[in-house]
Amino acid sequence: MQIPFVDLAAQHRALEKEILAAIRDSLARCDFILGSAVEEFERAFAAFVETGHAVGVSSGLDALRLALMALDVGPGDEVVLPANTYIATAFAVTSVGARPVLCDCRADTYGIDTRKIEAVLTARTKAILPVHLTGQAADMDEVLDIARRHKLHVVEDAAQAHGTKHRGKPCGSIGIIGCFSFYPGKNLGACGDAGMTTTNDERLAEVMREIRNNGQREKYHHVRQGLNARLDTMQAAILSIKLMHLPDWNAARNRAAAAYRQRLQGVGDLAFQQIAPRSTHVQHLFVVETARRDGLLQHLKSRGVATGVHYPVPVHLQPCYASLGYHLGDFPVAEHLARRMLSLPMFPELDERQIDYIETHVREFYAA
Ligand SMILES: *Cc1c(COP(=O)(O)O)cnc(C)c1O
Repeated sequence: MQIPFVDLAAQHRALEKEILAAIRDSLARCDFILGSAVEEFERAFAAFVETGHAVGVSSGLDALRLALMALDVGPGDEVVLPANTYIATAFAVTSVGARPVLCDCRADTYGIDTRKIEAVLTARTKAILPVHLTGQAADMDEVLDIARRHKLHVVEDAAQAHGTKHRGKPCGSIGIIGCFSFYPGKNLGACGDAGMTTTNDERLAEVMREIRNNGQREKYHHVRQGLNARLDTMQAAILSIKLMHLPDWNAARNRAAAAYRQRLQGVGDLAFQQIAPRSTHVQHLFVVETARRDGLLQHLKSRGVATGVHYPVPVHLQPCYASLGYHLGDFPVAEHLARRMLSLPMFPELDERQIDYIETHVREFYAA
């Protein structure tokens, strides 16, 4: 049996007719740039995240970048983010000329360790950028509390957390701006690159609309320096179709995760990510920890099971950030997790038969 890490083909088989019809509509209208489907999807996604506004952009990285630009974060400023995240979280900060200041993560839930945030704050800190990694909400009570006391912005990286809630509030609606990616493999994925920012602040939404569209309010009247970072109309049309299925898909992810936990409990030295009590997790990734990570990865690969490592190299040890001056040993929890974490296949269509097969071969690895 071959089991992919994410099975997009299964999702698209089910929705092919609707998606092709949406593309045909788009071709007929030729409104490829900021067409009506963009506004429709923005409205639907804002309702999903329970914010007043949503601004469609070209990727998750651009969503983060626009959020920081709208908040006037720039050269001389610092932004605090976790050491264990996808590199784009840090790229957003350096792309606006600010400095990423890293913070270690928790060994149990993998989120930013809020007990360590205040130690890295300086007079230059402008914002905290928590990441809802693997679909689990960061400790937002503590993040908001620290931000309030030090007058900092909170921008959420919700690229892995479409549908996750913290104390009943959707991720992306808790900080001043939420940032989403619709990279194909996310909980809600486009057929290409796409992203979104969400906010309740009308002025910030307006500024982000201007920035994404070459800084213009009116064609050829550029009120600020901008980017070409618009959400593509066809992608918006496809995303509107998929959004209707997202609640069911998220529930299916969580059922698959529950099955994994039940079947793999106590097998070998496997440990699981703990779910924070105030987070309604959507299992974007299903991560196990083992001292024999590379061996298990190779074994599963030889049996046709694709896995992932999120992420093998923490941000502070990436060659592109050597100039930040961090060293091995600076963030011991992130480094420990980077050696131990393995993400098993996780997608809504993952079925009993496939989970059976994965369980069998995980057990086979530890029995050898
Ligand atoms: C995917 C991802 C991003 C970047 O999104 P892109 O659409 O690929 O630019 C940023 N942060 C996190 C945590 C992600 O998982």
